[in-house]
Amino acid sequence: MAIFDLKNRVAFVTGGNGGIGLGMAKGMAAAGASIVIAGRNKTKAQSALSELRSLGAQAEFVDLDVVDEKACRQAIQNAVERFGRLDILVNNAGTTVRKQPEDLTAQDWHLVMNTNLTSAFLCSQAAYPHMVRAGGGKIINIGSMMSVFASSYAAPYSASKAGIVQLAKSMAVAWAKDNIQVNAVLPGWIDTELTQGARKQVQGLHDKVLARTPAQRWGIPGDFAGIAVFLASPASDFITGVAIAVDGGYSAQA
Ligand code: NDP
Repeated sequence: MAIFDLKNRVAFVTGGNGGIGLGMAKGMAAAGASIVIAGRNKTKAQSALSELRSLGAQAEFVDLDVVDEKACRQAIQNAVERFGRLDILVNNAGTTVRKQPEDLTAQDWHLVMNTNLTSAFLCSQAAYPHMVRAGGGKIINIGSMMSVFASSYAAPYSASKAGIVQLAKSMAVAWAKDNIQVNAVLPGWIDTELTQGARKQVQGLHDKVLARTPAQRWGIPGDFAGIAVFLASPASDFITGVAIAVDGGYSAQA
């Protein structure tokens, strides 16, 4: 369908070398987009590139540590030089430090905030002039259930994920005049490297999630292909500044 067509569009996905980011990248690749995945782990990136190319997409990897301000700006510039344009940015790279608030160091705090929130601001700001030049664009910020709910062991993570939603809304309001739509996606509990760590550290988490999720399963990265295509395509041109849960009903359950 033309409204979901991403042919001739270029998407940049931070942390697109695995997990949810790769799930989104694969959806957009299948809809015709060229994909730039940006992250640190080159082994994961090689396998992600093979998957994306097997879908018929042009795909490249940019080595990027998103806590490095200059590197964020340069990575966006490199992507534009490689593909000639930038239409879609997915701010997906994320990390956490699981400690009680009283045990967190300032370094823990800055690591999580810089990775999850500041990088989204920097990449979006760097992408903006290229999207304006292209006549519009789409920015998708990855939030969390922790954008809304809280856990005793995730203060900086929750703060960063609440912040990324407000950042999306602010950019949506500012850049609607440029035909740039900015939205957030709030994943429920998804089976990825990040949550494999959580399941080891947080006792009973696996079963608690199953009990609380109406869909009665953990999510998988493939659950994010559809929302990525929707929010990256003309199908969502009048949708901006919203946060959409992809959570099997987790946030609807009282
Ligand atoms: P993964 O650990 O699989 O993915 C995280 C990605 O972020 C990796 O590809 C990683 O790349 C990248 N990343 C982390 N730090 C940096 C950095 N400093 N520079 C560049 N890239 C970085 O987990 P998920 O797929 O689960 O996480 C993706 C997003 O989804 C995150 O923002 C997370 O907070 C969010 N989320 C996940 C949920 C879940 O249940 N899984 C729930 C709610 C939100 P590399 O390995 O190369 O460092």
